[in-house]
Amino acid sequence: MNELKESILTPITDECDCLIAGGGFAGISASLAAARAGAKVTLIEREYILGGLGTAGIVTIYLPLCDGKGRQVSFGIAEELLMLSIKHGAEDKYPDAWLDGDDKDLRKKQRFEVQYNPHMFALEAEKLLIENGVKILYGTSVCQASVSDRKINHIIIENKSGRSAIKVNRSVVDCTGDADVVKLSGAKTKTFNMGNSLAAWYYSLSVSRGLTLHPIGASDSAEDIATGKSTTALVERRFTGICGEELSEMTQISHSFILRDILDKKKRDVSHVPVTIPTIPQIRMTRRIDGVYTMNDKEMHKNFSDSVGMFSDWRKRGPVYELPFSTLYGNDIDNLICAGRCISVTDDMWDISRVIPVCAVSGEAAGTAAALTDNFSEIDMELLQDTLVKNGVILHEENL
Ligand SMILES: Cc1cc2nc3c(=O)[nH]c(=O)nc-3n(C[C@H](O)[C@H](O)[C@H](O)COP(=O)(O)OP(=O)(O)OC[C@H]3O[C@@H](n4cnc5c(N)ncnc54)[C@H](O)[C@@H]3O)c2cc1C
Repeated sequence: MNELKESILTPITDECDCLIAGGGFAGISASLAAARAGAKVTLIEREYILGGLGTAGIVTIYLPLCDGKGRQVSFGIAEELLMLSIKHGAEDKYPDAWLDGDDKDLRKKQRFEVQYNPHMFALEAEKLLIENGVKILYGTSVCQASVSDRKINHIIIENKSGRSAIKVNRSVVDCTGDADVVKLSGAKTKTFNMGNSLAAWYYSLSVSRGLTLHPIGASDSAEDIATGKSTTALVERRFTGICGEELSEMTQISHSFILRDILDKKKRDVSHVPVTIPTIPQIRMTRRIDGVYTMNDKEMHKNFSDSVGMFSDWRKRGPVYELPFSTLYGNDIDNLICAGRCISVTDDMWDISRVIPVCAVSGEAAGTAAALTDNFSEIDMELLQDTLVKNGVILHEENL
């Protein structure tokens, strides 16, 4: 391949304590936590909207904060963002047993999850971050990391103004979903080799059904794929999500399914119109950090001394997982930490940990830690955990 050597010097246009790359649920949570812990925070987001897959990607079901047996397990910013998402009303799945009453039997049947409006959430989340002093840079991609002595000292960004660098005084939180910063910094990553099935979620409006979410293309678990039991895939082809050309092709195939569905439904009801289609690729598991610890799906009900929060299994009732801090950072770069889809978990665990509430839990932990240190392996764990507890997080199942 021919190579082009860049000779233009990159201007340094800004500086911050904590740089958060990516403004999905993980990035929103991390930004909020770091800013509340007193850091000067800059959030870099490629799109012109916050929320990532949870807004631009039309994935609007905030999966459960509870274990399905009547116990809430995720707290803090995970709960705050769920409440923010339905501040002006839920679209569906309103969990009245959790929000309006204290019916313990009903809580065992009804999970603490909601379907929210993506636009209202994005607007409210932006307002919340601004109120907390976070600087948001939209339309901006992180495209390089400058590393010396095992630390990221500058992040190179690209936007309408061209290329520039942001000086990082303390730490970087990778919330890109695809571990872009980890990869760019030269640290170790792992990929989801089984690839993702196609999704084609969109919203429509019609006289008879009103506003409707069409979740076309269900997920299949790593186990289903491995054992050939996957029956939900729309097309046989699977997608890695980390190749530019492939993502474009995947988007076009997804669009063709959406168009077909709209036209089919229009035949039966002429008032059926699409109101929102995804503006980013709907991809689940791509690339993640190869962390100090890699968690698997058998580690339910296990006590981790470095737990920074808890989450449940959205697919079944019962399992509760403590999230070890050591799944968020690696051995290569001292001041880099991950949150959201790209934390260090096995393929089986990935399907559980990638969902919105878990992204918010890891985001709060990573953002809080990012404000406290520029070396995650040497963090004052007691201070981190005390800060999280003070902010309403419960760390261990035995304390529920
Ligand atoms: C089809 C589908 C259905 C799903 N269903 C559900 C569901 O029902 N409920 C649920 O809870 N979860 C669901 N999920 C999973 C969930 O939506 C996501 O895993 C979660 O929202 C991920 O959050 P995140 O913040 O880690 O990443 P993302 O939402 O992917 O956010 C990453 C953000 O970073 C930005 N970004 C990426 N790279 C860069 C870069 N280099 N520079 C700057 N910005 C960058 C992106 O624009 C994006 O805003 C589903 C996912 C898919 C694909």
